Amino acid sequence: MSRTPFIAGNWKMHLDRAGIATFCEALAAPDYGAEGVRVGVFPPFVYLAQVVEALAGTGIVVGAQNCHPADEGAFTGEVAARMVADVGASHVIVGHSERRHVFGETDADVKARLDAALARGLDVILCVGETIHERQAGRTEEVVFRQLDAGLAGLDGETVATRVTVAYEPVWAIGTGLTATPAQAQDVHAAVRARVAGTCGDDVAARLIIQYGGSVKPDNVSELIGQADVDGALVGGASLQPTSFQALARLGTGVNA
Ligand code: PEP
Repeated sequence: MSRTPFIAGNWKMHLDRAGIATFCEALAAPDYGAEGVRVGVFPPFVYLAQVVEALAGTGIVVGAQNCHPADEGAFTGEVAARMVADVGASHVIVGHSERRHVFGETDADVKARLDAALARGLDVILCVGETIHERQAGRTEEVVFRQLDAGLAGLDGETVATRVTVAYEPVWAIGTGLTATPAQAQDVHAAVRARVAGTCGDDVAARLIIQYGGSVKPDNVSELIGQADVDGALVGGASLQPTSFQALARLGTGVNA
């Protein structure tokens, strides 16, 4: 089963309007083979409409970093999945470790966001991953499976295969410069795929895109996504410069395809 690699840049709370305009100009004239790789960017909410407009027609995915499950209401500071879809974005990241660990989102919170995004026609990147203490305690699979099962509960297989990307992001590797070894990443990715095969069937599992995230850079991306079950990357720091991000996209081209 061939899977097109998906390289996604999570811009977190970085960049500004002028920098994003320059970035989008560079992305709209790609120096990577756009055929063999899917590329996406996830700007801060306030720049979402700007990026959607600037990248219209390029095929580059534009998404939000989170969403609120309610369609509207007294939720000061929040942005509804409905609003993300309304400005033309196509995707939402849910369950990023910073949302879980800095803002206290539970598995139930993440699930509510994921379901609201799908209901509003948005595709999702569901982030899962263990802390260093959980890994050292031998609890990696337990934690990742708990987050995965909670996120995918009740979804039909076709939705999982076509509208959900799973991002395995060990918390200890995010923004730390520590990267999981290719073998460590492959072990968890293979376990995630087997888990999905158990609940949704082999065909769905074979089509599921599973990204790795955690200090991915141009000099380590090839080895990571050269692993059999690693289908791309969710990238923070190295996605903030057009040259670095385009290098990641170029290196992602055709791998595992
Ligand atoms: C992330 O934010 O999802 C991430 C993986 O960040 P970084 O690449 O900076 O580790």
